[in-house]
Amino acid sequence: MKFEELPTPCYVVDEALVEKNLNILKGVMDRTGCKIVLAQKAFSMTTMYPLIAEYLTGTTASGLFEARLGYEEMGKENHVFSPAYREDEIDEIISICDHIIFNSFSQLEKFKQKALDAGRSVGLRINPECSTQVGHDIYDPCTTGSRFGVTKEHFRPDRLDGVDGLHFHTLCQQNSDDLETTLNAIEEKFGEWLPQMKWINFGGGHHITREDYDLSKLEACIKRMQDKYGLEVYLEPGEAVALDAGYLVTTVLDTIENGMEIAILDTSASCHMPDVLEMPYRPPLFGSGEVGEKPFMYRLGGQTCLTGDVIGDYSFDQPLKSGDRLVFGDMAIYSMVKNTTFNGMPLPAIAVKKTDGDCQVVRQFGYQDFKVRLA
Ligand SMILES: *Cc1c(COP(=O)(O)O)cnc(C)c1O
Repeated sequence: MKFEELPTPCYVVDEALVEKNLNILKGVMDRTGCKIVLAQKAFSMTTMYPLIAEYLTGTTASGLFEARLGYEEMGKENHVFSPAYREDEIDEIISICDHIIFNSFSQLEKFKQKALDAGRSVGLRINPECSTQVGHDIYDPCTTGSRFGVTKEHFRPDRLDGVDGLHFHTLCQQNSDDLETTLNAIEEKFGEWLPQMKWINFGGGHHITREDYDLSKLEACIKRMQDKYGLEVYLEPGEAVALDAGYLVTTVLDTIENGMEIAILDTSASCHMPDVLEMPYRPPLFGSGEVGEKPFMYRLGGQTCLTGDVIGDYSFDQPLKSGDRLVFGDMAIYSMVKNTTFNGMPLPAIAVKKTDGDCQVVRQFGYQDFKVRLA
């Protein structure tokens, strides 16, 4: 069907834009010999996995369910990291994951032998205590009291037996200058133990496919670890794979006035784009302007009971009216993986825009999807 015929609300992922990102990532792999896996947390749209599999090395997961998704739907190299694994899931995790990354020496000691017996590569997450993001504590694994990774103080070189690699993940939507700063901290604190490793995993948070990203600095960072320590380098971006590659199409249901013009949409910031409230940020909206930029200003809100269910204030060339369709941008990541049916909100359909422009709805949701999680 045509884009204009899609039901609303609907997430639409644009195949050509995902492929554009994948080509950039593949370029980094080709020029450096590093390996890049998809971190599924931000984007787990399995319809796109065959395409992603043509470009990337595999998948990484935050636990059993994501690991199973990667194993079943991509079937390539499969990695996993969790702050702590459960006894009743570790066997299944080991059976489907190639790299198993532990967050502490106690977890390592508890489960390492099982993983090694199964021929898996074992890694340890380290915490370089190098914050490169300011005022963004909930996204900073190096913040005070963070539960992520072993710090230098608690590092036990005498217990590294069987450990093939070190893993760090400290960035969030950042450029390669912050990666470089982080690598300096890694070398200063943990450099002594790098030569005995087989691999190093740079984690995610690299905004590699963003317009202003410095690819050559990234590639220099990768080469530095390869040449100096003979390490295989892994990156596990999530956002970068589907950055700016999707839309959320919605319809205006009504317009009202209360000291300003307000439009109510058939979507919800809280349910369908939770990062708008959590991050928080103002999503791009096609054909709109900043407040004051165009003559008709509206506050865009959702159908839920939450007063704060507001997407933002936008201006338009024409007044909005019931039935108008609005298209939000950058809605592939942290959207469908994070949505909820709070307030009985229906979940948006999921569609693909093929490279020839044809759109296909690949999943629709209904009342049962709301009810099945309640009892
Ligand atoms: C979130 C996360 C990623 C992916 O981060 P992006 O910001 O999506 O690139 C990779 N590795 C780990 C351990 C993570 O927690």
